[in-house]
Amino acid sequence: MSAKPVILVDSHCHLNYPELSPNLDQVLADAAESDVRYCLAINTRLSETDLLKTIADKYPQVFCTAGVHPHDAKDHSLKYLMTQLCEHANHPKVVGLGETGLDYYYDNSPREEQITCFDIHLEASVKLKLPVVIHTRDADDDTLVTINNHPTATGVFHCFSGSIDLAKAALDRGYYISFSGIITFKTAEELREVVRFTPLDRMLVETDSPFLAPIPHRGKPNQPAWTRVVAEKVADIKGIPLAEIATATTANFFNLFSKAMPSL
Ligand SMILES: [Zn+2]
Ligand SMILES: [Zn+2]
Repeated sequence: MSAKPVILVDSHCHLNYPELSPNLDQVLADAAESDVRYCLAINTRLSETDLLKTIADKYPQVFCTAGVHPHDAKDHSLKYLMTQLCEHANHPKVVGLGETGLDYYYDNSPREEQITCFDIHLEASVKLKLPVVIHTRDADDDTLVTINNHPTATGVFHCFSGSIDLAKAALDRGYYISFSGIITFKTAEELREVVRFTPLDRMLVETDSPFLAPIPHRGKPNQPAWTRVVAEKVADIKGIPLAEIATATTANFFNLFSKAMPSL
């Protein structure tokens, strides 16, 4: 009996950033070599959405999102955001919205603008039936208040680094939780507790490349191939074989991002 092939998805990477974009052929070949067969390229500014669509058109294994990062909310005319999201969503490989959310750690945009921007993405999620990729940092209460206003929106809390209470609140509202290389960091014991707590049928894995390279690759630009390191760590924490983590997280990805069609 042959073992089931391991197929992993990097549910959050920034393929258009300069650390990765000049070498995408190699980056994606290295990913495939590590069984990372699909990548979701995440948008942070609408000035870059067309570039992401071009990348997704070129590589069958790449899907992308359209949206405005909370850091960049101040640079966008939010008046037109809904129309722009709807237009971008017409593209067959735009399978989600974001990343959006609230970042009160850096406060790069005024909080009211972040909330308005997040709110529009959630409204678009309901309207377009596309999930939102949520970035939230030091903003638990406002994040929950904002998603409560859109009870039929769907999505994922990406690069989860919050408390177990936030994880519970997200799961209770039907959201998925995505874990990154942060779970490999020595100081992340509390987060590993969240991994133990999160049911297998509600979790995704990601790299957030080129950021947050996992141990033992700290200090280097992160890359989609290292989704495998994250999945191995989840397997280790939960005491479940890697193949099972891969099967579950990949199925979860295609359930949540249901517009994305697996080609393997
Ligand atoms: Zn983020
Ligand atoms: Zn990101």
